[in-house]
Amino acid sequence: MTDLTTEQRDILALVREFVDRDVLPNASRLDHGDEFPETMVETLREMGLFGITIPESYGGLGLDFVTYALVVKELSRGWISLSGVINTHFMAAWMIENFGTEEQKAKFLPRMATGELRSAYSMTEAHAGSDVQAIRTRAFRDGNEYIVDGQKMWSTNGLRAGMVMLLAVTDPDAEPRHRGMTAFIIEKEPGVAHQPGLTVPPQLKKLGYKGVESTELVFEDFRTPAASVLGGADGIGQGFKYFMAAVELGRVNVAARALGVATCAFETAVKYAQQREAFGKQISSHQAIQLKIAQMGTELRAAELMVLDAARKKARGERADLEAGMAKFFATEAAQKSVLEAMRIHGGYGYSQEYIVERLYRDAPLLILGEGTNEIQQLLIARRLIEQNRI
Ligand SMILES: Cc1cc2nc3c(=O)[nH]c(=O)nc-3n(C[C@H](O)[C@H](O)[C@H](O)COP(=O)(O)OP(=O)(O)OC[C@H]3O[C@@H](n4cnc5c(N)ncnc54)[C@H](O)[C@@H]3O)c2cc1C
Repeated sequence: MTDLTTEQRDILALVREFVDRDVLPNASRLDHGDEFPETMVETLREMGLFGITIPESYGGLGLDFVTYALVVKELSRGWISLSGVINTHFMAAWMIENFGTEEQKAKFLPRMATGELRSAYSMTEAHAGSDVQAIRTRAFRDGNEYIVDGQKMWSTNGLRAGMVMLLAVTDPDAEPRHRGMTAFIIEKEPGVAHQPGLTVPPQLKKLGYKGVESTELVFEDFRTPAASVLGGADGIGQGFKYFMAAVELGRVNVAARALGVATCAFETAVKYAQQREAFGKQISSHQAIQLKIAQMGTELRAAELMVLDAARKKARGERADLEAGMAKFFATEAAQKSVLEAMRIHGGYGYSQEYIVERLYRDAPLLILGEGTNEIQQLLIARRLIEQNRI
């Protein structure tokens, strides 16, 4: 990438150095113990990454979305769980910056920029993932407060976060349903499993994406001030729209994570292929291995260009749903293929916990499922392509 600014290069170099020094040597150990990367998260805070896109006037670094995507790629090259710690936070901060009232920006963004306050982002429920409009969590108005009742599922950072960007139904009779949904900035006690009206059950056990917790959030008569409606009075009934706008960013973000995982798989595999010998020569001299390296490298390059294209469009404020969807679809499928190819190149050792490939193999599938499954992604891509090519 030759067209990056000096500022972009400097921050990426800093993150890359951190990943090589602190993340790659420790990520698999933490993953195997499902341990939260406390020290690494502290370094993310020190580097200012929790406020990477938050405007400087609110104490953030004020960097653009392209830089964010490239930082996410670098972090994910080390460990996707680390990018998971900042991703929901980034989306919530972006929503406050773009849709919040001045009071909400002043109240939340400075503490979010330093990472003192970290956010989860919660729309999914047990019965409603792809079909977001089917959510049932209700928020009833009661004087100057709302009372929240319902159960959220798969909330990344659900326990340790000090706030949750929450999607709830405020008008169950609205037609279409999404017009009856509102986004709330819910403040909670970080790291506390039980507080009045909110229980965070033990974290969900997962195949990969370990270290960062994914939890349910059980709201029972949880009281939140009316002022916690994102966007104030104008935000009532706008929540679905706000969340979907953030999901579009999230898709570039997931694509960037996939790029990081694929990069790690590629680099690890190419290195191993030059160290391992079979039949008297390096396995990288065998054509069967070379075909894999060519395939992985080519898809990685294509994925990188697609992610940059979508991120740049988004950073310019242009409509980028098609590019974001394509980048997410292509990059995550490439990552999924790449981790298996890296495992094949490692032979039996790829299956051992001694090598990083085993972790990548468990982490990659999340990317094809999260932030809109790739099946849904293809439907959205097709809808836009047909729209653009209508006869
Ligand atoms: C580790 C992890 C972390 C997560 N973190 C968060 C988070 O922080 N916040 C949050 O809100 N959510 C989070 N999620 C939820 C995630 O976004 C959803 O799991 C995802 O959107 C899929 O929803 P679902 O699991 O309910 O699958 P379903 O919607 O039940 O889909 C099941 C299958 O049916 C297919 N399908 C569904 N509808 C259609 C259709 N119309 N046409 C064709 N195929 C269809 C899907 O593609 C999929 O193959 C997380 C999930 C995981 C696994």
